[in-house]
Amino acid sequence: MQLSRAARIILVGAPGVGKGTQTERMLKRFPQLSSISSGDLLRENVRKRTPLGIQAESTMKRGDLIPDSTILRLILSELISHGWLTTDAPRTMTLNSASAAGATAESGDDDDAFITSSPLTSQKYNFSEDPNASFILDGFPRTAAQALQLDDLIPINLVVNITTPTAIILDRICNRWVHAPSGRVYNTTFNAPKEEGKDDITGEPLTRRADDDPDTWKNRLQKFEETSMPLLEHYDRKGVLWTVQGNSSDEISPKLFAEFGKTFGRNQT
Ligand code: AMP
Repeated sequence: MQLSRAARIILVGAPGVGKGTQTERMLKRFPQLSSISSGDLLRENVRKRTPLGIQAESTMKRGDLIPDSTILRLILSELISHGWLTTDAPRTMTLNSASAAGATAESGDDDDAFITSSPLTSQKYNFSEDPNASFILDGFPRTAAQALQLDDLIPINLVVNITTPTAIILDRICNRWVHAPSGRVYNTTFNAPKEEGKDDITGEPLTRRADDDPDTWKNRLQKFEETSMPLLEHYDRKGVLWTVQGNSSDEISPKLFAEFGKTFGRNQT
């Protein structure tokens, strides 16, 4: 299906609700879409031991949220490096983080610049309505404050609120294994690796995510409950909120595909 305009989508849902799975399926189904996951970006920075990653690691392990200014700058640099946001102003600083779009991680004197200074976020940006500038944001924004900051940069035109009962989410978290270098996710109940504990493609060992233990999970869920309501209300007021319910990703995907087609398909406005 060809898109009629740029889709700028946010997935909102409790940790473990399957946002990553839905994103993967959407990318396969609609090749004009790309995705940015704030959690994946942060984990990549932790793995590569960038200054940002080192600073974020303990916060993530506790299940707490990274400061808004840090996460905003990380996402902003991604949007810019994909060419979805452009500016006429010259670039004024080095982005000292690992970027999914290929920026290299270096350490140096400006380590803190990425984390603390703000010339990037105070600039004015242009965005494109070209369908090829379509993306899904997974995990960002997570708070109304982050949403307000994003509004100043680029307007989101569909917010998907995914809801699944807590007991089902808990089961998923407890059985989740990942192949860290690729981000491939397995679940021993419904998506087990061919060989126990090994990645299907590379045969490398699977690991637990550092933040997948039950106490951390409870903290993350509590954080989600505290912050998601104002976030959803924010987008509801803007008229872009759509809620989908389901007990499994397989139940949710067809509904999501249909809604996406209705909103962004060629014959729609
Ligand atoms: P996720 O994979 O989206 O569940 O994110 C994993 C962890 O990364 C979270 O528990 C937070 O510590 C951090 N994180 C990801 N996205 C954000 C965000 N938008 N704001 C603040 N912290 C975030």
